[in-house]
Amino acid sequence: MTVPLALPALAARPVLRHLETFGDVPKSVRTLMESGVTRLLDSDMIITQPQQVPDAVTTGEAASSSIHAAGAEMAETILPQIEAEGLADHFKPLMRSFVRILFGLFLSPEQCERACACIDAGNHFSFLASDAGGPSLSSWRSVAHAEQGGIRLTVDKVWGIEAHREGMAIVAARGPVSFFPAAYVVWPEAYRTLRRTPHGDPFLEGRLQLGNVKGVVSLTRDERVKSGGPAVFNKYLTTVRPFFVRGLMAHVGWLGARDRVALDEGDARVHAFLSEAARVQSRAGRYDVDNVHRVLAIKFASNEFLNDLVRKGAVARFGDQRDLLAFTKMEGSSYHCYHALRNSTKSQ
Ligand SMILES: Cc1cc2nc3c(=O)[nH]c(=O)nc-3n(C[C@H](O)[C@H](O)[C@H](O)COP(=O)(O)OP(=O)(O)OC[C@H]3O[C@@H](n4cnc5c(N)ncnc54)[C@H](O)[C@@H]3O)c2cc1C
Repeated sequence: MTVPLALPALAARPVLRHLETFGDVPKSVRTLMESGVTRLLDSDMIITQPQQVPDAVTTGEAASSSIHAAGAEMAETILPQIEAEGLADHFKPLMRSFVRILFGLFLSPEQCERACACIDAGNHFSFLASDAGGPSLSSWRSVAHAEQGGIRLTVDKVWGIEAHREGMAIVAARGPVSFFPAAYVVWPEAYRTLRRTPHGDPFLEGRLQLGNVKGVVSLTRDERVKSGGPAVFNKYLTTVRPFFVRGLMAHVGWLGARDRVALDEGDARVHAFLSEAARVQSRAGRYDVDNVHRVLAIKFASNEFLNDLVRKGAVARFGDQRDLLAFTKMEGSSYHCYHALRNSTKSQ
């Protein structure tokens, strides 16, 4: 007779079933996932929590395509440097490799050439998704309207990496189709005219400053990003998240070797499991439903690991605590990842 699973174990299935595809999941990872999801459950999730193990969705779209490889190669060369020297000095190069991936997915060949020349000339690049209106697209304050011969883009974005600096940006805004955000390229001449302010104290020993951006710019119709289709944001995040988690795990290893993080035996197993799962996933090179879910599970697990280290006092310095918690939000918070994974199961 099979013993019925307790609620925390059932609630963790949408995450664990994807982590299990990477091999034996250590007990410390299971425990962490169960306590993580139980803490996150909102009212709707508790009300609708089934008592059986949920089935996988069988009707998901089977979109599948290869990912852009140039940026991935760049990221591979940076990761050993993070292992040896920590993330602070290598965060921006890692982000630049992500920018190459993003250009490959979002931009036409002509736009891509112009954008690469632009950042090679020393301009900063910002990807501005987080909106001053909050997480729901319907309340976003960044909106695009058609105007004679072009587009009038109202920008009100928060928390962009180095977004206060001179440079260019891809801005997500509410566009003509309301279910998905649309993306717009804002070249340096237009970006310069927006009000840009640093926001909060920097992270990573002063190397990472967030900024807010506000104002209105006129764009041509060509500056609306058309490549990649509506799934382009998801495609980008699915591609870069495993590299990001590898970078985070390399950084935790580096902090551990300097007694800035104390990893016990269980933590060491979580660290080894996640490092390997993220490494395997970063080489999958495919974008399809299974890979999207595996990546969400890895980012969720990484968030919960970092959060747990800080919560139990394993991270000695305030600056490291703040950095690690911030990285649990960047490129996918636990709530966001878990919400999407639950929706990928049938019995909601
Ligand atoms: C270091 C750093 C770099 C960043 N870089 C960028 C960047 O370059 N560009 C950019 O656009 N953004 C950037 N961000 C912002 C980042 O993308 C967001 O923080 C991220 O999307 C998570 O959103 P959130 O902080 O609102 O938290 P979330 O936890 O995702 O919350 C989202 C919403 O869900 C609700 N919620 C959360 N938990 C629960 C729960 N248990 N039950 C019910 N509701 C819940 C919250 O109230 C909130 O309304 C960065 C952030 C950091 C910290």
